[in-house]
Amino acid sequence: MSEIKKEIIIVGAGPAGLTAAMYAKRANKDIILLEPNLVGGQLTWSSIVENYPGFESGIKGMELAEHMRKQVEGIGVSIISSKATEITQQDSSYLIKTEKDSYQAQAIIISTGAFPKKLNVPGESDYIAKGVSYCATCDAPLFKNKIVAVIGGGDVALEEALYLSEYASKVYLIHRRQGFRAAAVLEDKVKNNKKIELILDSTVESIEGDKVVKQLEIKNKLNQEKRTIELEGVFIFIGLNPNSELVETLVKTDEDKLILTDESMACSVKGVFAAGDVRRKEYRQIVLACADGAIAGLSASRYINENCN
Ligand code: NAP
Repeated sequence: MSEIKKEIIIVGAGPAGLTAAMYAKRANKDIILLEPNLVGGQLTWSSIVENYPGFESGIKGMELAEHMRKQVEGIGVSIISSKATEITQQDSSYLIKTEKDSYQAQAIIISTGAFPKKLNVPGESDYIAKGVSYCATCDAPLFKNKIVAVIGGGDVALEEALYLSEYASKVYLIHRRQGFRAAAVLEDKVKNNKKIELILDSTVESIEGDKVVKQLEIKNKLNQEKRTIELEGVFIFIGLNPNSELVETLVKTDEDKLILTDESMACSVKGVFAAGDVRRKEYRQIVLACADGAIAGLSASRYINENCN
């Protein structure tokens, strides 16, 4: 397997990685972007994005991802459809192995994002793709005129409950406490939506069915009462875990495996930068993932100018 030399390798083509690529390319760096899945990352799971500046009526996540992809490919960035499997430090450079090729880079940007957390209740794993879903954009049309439940109380759960209400006959929104973590504007919309019924202070005990999901067992945390809800779909949106395994022995991470960076997006090891939901930060928004990406692209380019020529 030959080693392809690049100045910067960006791992992960969500909003953070795509923006990092744009900034590094505009700094005249020789780069590639590695992405084994759909370009756009979590954007491609998002039904509608209402808070990305410039789109006054909102924009579908998939459509925004497509605009970003075309923009970076339009300035000559190559997006390679391959998974990075190993990164090792070699003196002042890095060796990145992928399923197809090996690359040597002077700097790397980790923008691998995050994946949905599991509830870890009986039945969840058995019914994935048989009624259990982690992506409303992908699966909502399968539940036209059917009853579904959404689990969670953050932005994603409320946004996707609203989206699902356009297809399903009824949406139960089940949250483990009274207060929502989601933006107030979403809470108002959910409360005013006649198809959505809130079930608060309640946890999911199990997901049951035969070949497909048929019911959900829930328990009220205040009075311990159990209840069975008959339905066909269970959408779980209870937060995200970072995709940081690739570098967890290379750079410092916190107890949640989020990569630690400084303000320039530099990690604990020289020449490695991280951007977006894979790193520890206060707020998680698309516009902030892009901001991280811009900073990482600029910082990695400056690192090369100052250290590698
Ligand atoms: P999140 O904000 O972390 O919310 C997760 C929700 O799931 C919380 O309400 C949490 O309950 C609940 N939860 C966690 N573990 C649970 C469990 N084991 N059982 C039951 N419920 C559980 O996650 P998210 O909604 O996926 O959002 C991720 C990040 O992306 C957030 O920072 C969010 O603001 C951001 N985001 C922003 C937008 C937007 O601005 N349009 C859209 C999507 C996402 P508790 O509240 O009780 O902890």
